[in-house]
Amino acid sequence: MSIQVYINGSYFPKEEAKISVFDHGFLYGDGVFEGIRAYDGRVFRLRQHIDRLYSGARAIMLDIPLSKDEMVEVVLETLRRNRLRDAYIRLVVSRGEGDLGLDPRKCSKPTIICITDKIVLYPQKMYEEGLEIITAATRRNTPEGVNPQVKTLNYLNNIMAKIEANQAGVMEALMLNTDDYVAECTGDNIFIVKDGVLITPPTYSGILIGITRNAIIELAQKLGIKVEEKLFTRYEVYAADECFLTGTAAEAIPVVKVDGRVIGDGKPGTITRRLLEAFKELVRTDGEKIYLED
Ligand code: PMP
Repeated sequence: MSIQVYINGSYFPKEEAKISVFDHGFLYGDGVFEGIRAYDGRVFRLRQHIDRLYSGARAIMLDIPLSKDEMVEVVLETLRRNRLRDAYIRLVVSRGEGDLGLDPRKCSKPTIICITDKIVLYPQKMYEEGLEIITAATRRNTPEGVNPQVKTLNYLNNIMAKIEANQAGVMEALMLNTDDYVAECTGDNIFIVKDGVLITPPTYSGILIGITRNAIIELAQKLGIKVEEKLFTRYEVYAADECFLTGTAAEAIPVVKVDGRVIGDGKPGTITRRLLEAFKELVRTDGEKIYLED
């Protein structure tokens, strides 16, 4: 059976799931989205994803014509229709169909899409051995421009950095903000560990406030690991004992080399491994149930 995709209240087989070429999500990247994940019949922190989607929509003055509860149901129902228990979920709300000008007032109805599928970003080996990354020359968007806290459909900033990673033959790129501080990677937040303290850039550094990031901070606090949200530079990454990235698609993945510098002893660190384990445990218990009988 083909994947069933939700578009504005109806379900279509993947091959027939189409939107207008006049949709401003397509023409201008005008819209917001979420990447969400279901594990063993539960959608991990679905309400937090929906809250972030609606906050972003508010920031770009896009009125979503569904309540948050209705949006939660859209996600759960799409998963049920596809009989999924483990999935990657892409929820998209674009400005909708308009004319060729960029004026959003020409778009009368947002387009709402929910796609449920699988995602594998990195080979399993990299979770065990760690990832090599580089620093991109492309700087993360400034909060005064398109605020990285809003997960907009315009991902070109990140894609530019991803191209740099591709050119360098690695899978991720670190992005600095325009003040030279570490912000995040193209699709993940970053953590370092130094002298037993877990450090991650603060919300105002110009990052997406990751749901995974926040879960890792909570887990660290529960495990008695000291956490600091503070600005740091590339040098502090090079000098860190451990480093890892977090994101819904990537989950939590160790980093062992940055710009050719070996991090710590070149293997995933102890705190990183403890947090990765704790996160794996958390996703199995924390989330909205998809099926009533579970
Ligand atoms: N930063 C960026 C730029 C991202 O695209 C993502 C993944 N969507 C993240 C961070 C991680 O956020 P989350 O943990 O909510 O998936």
